[in-house]
Amino acid sequence: MADTHKLDCESVSDTCRFIIQSENETEAVELAQKHMAEVHGQEFTADELKDDHLQVV
Ligand SMILES: [Zn+2]
Repeated sequence: MADTHKLDCESVSDTCRFIIQSENETEAVELAQKHMAEVHGQEFTADELKDDHLQVV
């Protein structure tokens, strides 16, 4: 079984329930960066997302 990389936007925002799940870490990071920029107007680097927000489940 491959690891699933998960970002729960609730960890960043109190009001957003957006969840990203992907078996591909690069894809998960890209989707997360896009969501953060488009919905929250916040720019995160890939490393920030990986270190602080992405969980492996
Ligand atoms: Zn969000």
